[in-house]
Amino acid sequence: RGTPAKRRGEILWAISDLVLAHADELARIEVLDNGMPIAMARGLLDGVVEGFRYFAGACTRLHGRTADMGEDLEYHAFAVSEPVGVAGLVVPWNGPLASLGNKLAPALAAGCSVVVKPAEQTSLSTLRLAELVLEAGVPPGVVNVVTGTGPAAGAALVHHDDVDKISFTGSLEVGRGIVAASAGNLKRVTLELGGKSPVFVFDDADLDAAVPVVGAGIFANSGQVCFAGSRVYAQPGIVDDLVAGLVEHAKGLRVGNGLDAGTQIGPLISERQRARVLDYVASGLAEGGEVVTGGVASGGVGYFVEPTIFTGTRADMRIVREEIFGPVLTVMPFGGLDELPGIGNAGPYGLGAGLFTRDLGVAHRAVRLLDAGNVWVNCYGRRDRSLPFGGFKQSGWGRENGPEGLDAYLEKKSVYLHL
Ligand code: NAP
Ligand code: MG
Repeated sequence: RGTPAKRRGEILWAISDLVLAHADELARIEVLDNGMPIAMARGLLDGVVEGFRYFAGACTRLHGRTADMGEDLEYHAFAVSEPVGVAGLVVPWNGPLASLGNKLAPALAAGCSVVVKPAEQTSLSTLRLAELVLEAGVPPGVVNVVTGTGPAAGAALVHHDDVDKISFTGSLEVGRGIVAASAGNLKRVTLELGGKSPVFVFDDADLDAAVPVVGAGIFANSGQVCFAGSRVYAQPGIVDDLVAGLVEHAKGLRVGNGLDAGTQIGPLISERQRARVLDYVASGLAEGGEVVTGGVASGGVGYFVEPTIFTGTRADMRIVREEIFGPVLTVMPFGGLDELPGIGNAGPYGLGAGLFTRDLGVAHRAVRLLDAGNVWVNCYGRRDRSLPFGGFKQSGWGRENGPEGLDAYLEKKSVYLHL
C-alpha cells in the first residue's frame, strides 16, 4: 500500500510484459497441470496480459470525490479509496492463471497484499507466475502463495482474522462455507460460483452460424467452465436441425492430449471429476433421457469423456438442473419469448445466458427477461476486461473486471476537514 500509484502501474505493466514473454512456457505448464488444449491455454494467457494492462492503467485513476457542504467554505469534504488490506485469493483448477489474473491484477492495483491458494491439482503455473511477479518488481512479501488442499490451506486462509478479504472462484458448496467462515472477522467476500446457463435458439436463428458457437459454449475445456451453456432450448421449427448440427459438430471434435496442436478437447481434470460426469450421464439415462452422441469415456490414458448430447430430457431431471462441469449438453424444445423467464431463471444460478435470433426486437426483450450476469446474443462466452463479470442469485457475490472488479479490493473513506 506504500508504493505510489504511478509505480504500481509500472509494475503491473512489467508483469504483463513478463507474462507475454513467457506465455508459451506458462501455457505448457498449464496444460501439464490441467490438460486443456495448448491453443486454449495460450489464448487465455493473452487475456491475463490484457488484464494486467487494464488494471495497470487503473492505478493512477483511483480518484476520490469532493462534496459541496454549502457552509461558506468552512469545510473541505472528500472521499478517498484505500486498499482493503490482505486479500486471500482462492482459485480453482479449470482456468488457473485466467482466474488468478482476474483477482491478482485488481488487488495489486488497489494496493493490497495477497495470499494465493491455488487448486492442489494446478499449482504449478501459479508458482511460476509468482516468480515473474517478483522479477517485475513487486516488493517481497506482497504476493504469497500457499499450496495445499482446500480443507487445510484454504480453510486456514478463509478463517484467518488477519485476512481482510477473500476472493473465491469455485463451487457453490465451498462458497457457502466461505461465507460462514467470514463471519469470524466479517471479512469482505467476493464469490464467483457456478452456473447452469441456458441458451435459447429461436426459429429464425442463423443455424450454420449458431451450431459451432453453441457447441463451443458447452464443449470448450471439456465443459469445465463456470458459464458453460449447458442447457439448450430450441423452438420447434429449428430443434431437429439444431440437434443434427450439434451432433455432427460434437463428433467432429478432436479429443486428445492437450499438448498435441490439433487437439480441441482435452481430458477432465481428474478421475474423480470423470466419475462425477459419468454418474450424471447414468442418471440422465435412468431418468429417461436419450444420448444422441457420446455418453462414454474415451479410451487411452487420461480422464477423457466424449462430447455428449442428450435429448428427451425434462425440467425436473438432475442433468437439466445441476451443474455437471463436464462435456454434457441437454437440448429441449421451447415455445417462445413468454417461456423465457420460467425456463431461463429456474434454479439457483444466474451466471450466463445465450440467445440466437436475427430479430433484434426479440433479442432486446429477451435480454431483460433473464436473471443472468452475462447475456450473449448470437455469440457465447465473449468477455471484455472493462465490463463486470459475475452472477445473479447464487452464482456469486460481486463482480470481477471493470471498475467493479477494482472496487472489490477497496475501502472508502470519507473525510470532513473543518477549516
Ligand atoms: P472447489 O472445491 O470449490 O475448489 C475451488 C478452490 O477452493 C480450490 O482451490 C479448493 O482447493 C478450494 N477449497 C476447497 N475447499 C475449501 C475450503 N473448505 N476452504 C477454502 N478453500 C477451499 O471446487 P472443486 O472441488 O475443485 O470442483 C467441484 C465442483 O465445483 C465442480 O464439479 C464444479 O461444479 C464446481 N466448480 C466451479 C468453478 C467455477 O469456475 N465457478 C470452478 C471449479 C469448480 P483444492 O481443490 O486444492 O482442495
Ligand atoms: Mg472441492
